Parts: sequence; structure tokens; C-alpha cells
Amino acid sequence: MKLHEYQSKQIFSKYGVPIPKGRVAATAADARQIAQELGGRVVIKSQVLVGGRGKAGGIKLAKTPQEAEEIATQILSMEIRGLPVRKVLVDEAAEIKKEIYLGITNDRAARRPVMMASSAGGVEIEEVARTNPEKIIKVHINPQLGLKDFQARNIAIGIDLPRDHWKLFNQIAIGLWRAFIDCDATLAEINPLVITGDNRLIALDGKMVIDDNAIFRHPDLNEMRDLDAEAPSEIEARKYGLSFIKLDGTIGCMVNGAGLAMTTMDIIKLFGGEPANFLDIGGGAGADKVAAAMRIILADPNVNAILLNIFGGITRCDEVARGVLAAMDEVKPKVPMVVRLVGTNAEEGRQILESAKLITAETLADAALKAVAASKSR
Ligand code: GDP
Ligand code: MN
Repeated sequence: MKLHEYQSKQIFSKYGVPIPKGRVAATAADARQIAQELGGRVVIKSQVLVGGRGKAGGIKLAKTPQEAEEIATQILSMEIRGLPVRKVLVDEAAEIKKEIYLGITNDRAARRPVMMASSAGGVEIEEVARTNPEKIIKVHINPQLGLKDFQARNIAIGIDLPRDHWKLFNQIAIGLWRAFIDCDATLAEINPLVITGDNRLIALDGKMVIDDNAIFRHPDLNEMRDLDAEAPSEIEARKYGLSFIKLDGTIGCMVNGAGLAMTTMDIIKLFGGEPANFLDIGGGAGADKVAAAMRIILADPNVNAILLNIFGGITRCDEVARGVLAAMDEVKPKVPMVVRLVGTNAEEGRQILESAKLITAETLADAALKAVAASKSR
């Protein structure tokens, strides 16, 4: 789950990271009011869950409350990479002397969190990583010990931070680490962390991604979830406990088990097709869950064939078959469906599905070939 900039910065602030004064507004009139209260120049920032808002014109400076209102009106009517802007953050504007990148994520290969910093902040860090990898300083963190002062110091030295900022940088780095670990985040990032004209160190941008598997122990964070910013299909999927990720292909996949779902997507690609989604209906899925999955897949207009790949273990093939029938009854799919059922109650499952017009397959390769052929013939 991604948090908005204003939410991330509020959390960072609780951990001792300095942030600009400011508030979020849903209307241009509110934005004007906030600008009035702050006095002086403000920056109006679209709150959407994508990066590169600056480049997209979603971040603008305003000199007066009047101008703040005008800019807010304009930004609130924008769409950034397909996401409508529903809120803007109105922050005291900072005079930027230097932009620094500071972030923490998990380094899977090293099996620990890693703090990364760069003196080339502000721009997209992925770009720096590609063109100037030596400009990114990395320090791995022992999760039991946490980020140590000497490590924060080494980072400060590594990015050539002037010595008079070291003390505050240490506080910011350790605060960011504590926010990361306390919130069960998979990403906590400040880009840019800036040195201002009057020589302060302050977090101008903030981004956090919370591990969905840990959300159950953070009801307060879960309340920050912005349903507006999520695809309706993903909201529906979460309601039914399905793991669903929308992709750009044409073959809808319904599979039980994440590993099997990935294998299914791979084999579709191997035979020249493109999966429309990743969907794991999970172990022991009943008919209602299968029906929900079917609705979600068919709601995607790109889908022109469906591949149902079920390996019955805890999940019973006859239950899945009943769910498929129920869903077909409800949504009346017009696309061809290829079904491969193996394992517990597979025979019963096949019998149930006999009445429906489905393409059956014996092996996974056979199923994938048939699904790709069906998809391409349309
Ligand atoms: P992003 O583009 O979505 O990452 O949004 P950011 O919050 O990082 O803003 C992008 C850029 O806008 C920053 O790198 C700054 O150069 C600029 N910016 C943001 N806030 C301010 C501000 O208060 N004053 C000035 N002068 N520039 C700002
Ligand atoms: Mn940024």
C-alpha cells in the first residue's frame, strides 16, 4: 500500500525529520486559505500515488494566496498518468540550494534493509543508478541492531555533506530508519532532502510503501488507504482475499497458488501470448471466490481469452467448477475459456463443467497453447 506524500511526511515528522509547514486541501478555496495562513511563497503539490509529478506539471510555486487558488484550481482538474488529482498539499516554499536523495528499502539479495543516498537527488534515482551508479552510497542495516550513528556518518561523508549538517542528517537518517521499521514499510524515501538557502536540512518530498502483509497490525495506517487511487478491480480483489495484479496482455489467468500463477504467465509468454493479469485465488477457494475472480477478469476489456489452471490440493476442483458455472451464469462471458483441472476431485470438476462450452486441456503446455491460439484468433 502506497502512502501519499503528505501522509509519508507526517509520519517522518513524528520521527524527527524536519518537513515544511503545510496542509492538504481538497478545494482551491482551502488551498487559498492555507496559503494565507502560511504567508509568503507556497508550493502547490498534487497528491497522486505516482512519481514524476514535478515533470508532469503537478507541482507549482505560488507567490500570493490568489495565485495559490488559481494554481490549485488548475492542478485539481488534472490527471497525472491516468490518476485524477483530488487533493493538493500546500507547503511553505523552500529555497533550494542542494537536492539529496535518501531512501531505505529491502535488498533481497543481501537479505537486509539497505539505506541509499545520493548527492544527485531530486531527479529520478533510477536514472542515476543507471548512468552514475557510483553516485549512490549504500549501507546495509542489520535489522537487529538498527541503523548506527557511524553508518549515518559514513553516508554523510559519502555524499559530501558539509560537516555542519551532520548532526541533523544523523537524526534524519535514524528517524527514517525507525519509521521504516515501525511501519513495516518496504520503502521509505525522501527525494529530495534539501539544503535550503538559509542552510537548513528539510524533507521536501516523502514516499512510503507499507507491506500489505503487515497491514493487519497497523489499523491506523490502513485508514490512510486511498481507495480513489486504486484500480476498482484491485479493491474488489482485496475484498474477496484474492491476490490480483492487472497487466497489459489479453489472456486472463485464474490460477490457484502464486507459484503456479507465475508459471502459467511464463508459459503463456513462452507460446507467444501475453497475460492480462496475475491472479491467485488461493488455497481452498470456494465457489463465491471463484465467481468474484471471474467477474474481475472479465471486467478487463483487453481480455479475449481465459486460462483456468487449477491444481487441486486443498482447493477442490469440483468447488472451482461450481464457481465457474455460477460466474458464467452471472456474467455470460463471450470469450473462449480454456480449462485445465488436475488433482483433488478433478473428475467431478470436469463433469460439472461438461455442460458449459469450454476448451479442455490435459497438460499445462496444452492449455497455454490453446489459450494463446484462442486469444490470437480474435
Ligand atoms: P515528484 O516530482 O513527484 O518527485 O515531486 P517532488 O516533491 O520531489 O518535487 C519535484 C521537484 O519540485 C523537486 O525536486 C524540487 O526541485 C521542486 N520543488 C518541490 N518543492 C519545492 C519548493 O518548496 N521550492 C522549490 N523551489 N522547488 C520545489
Ligand atoms: Mn520527489
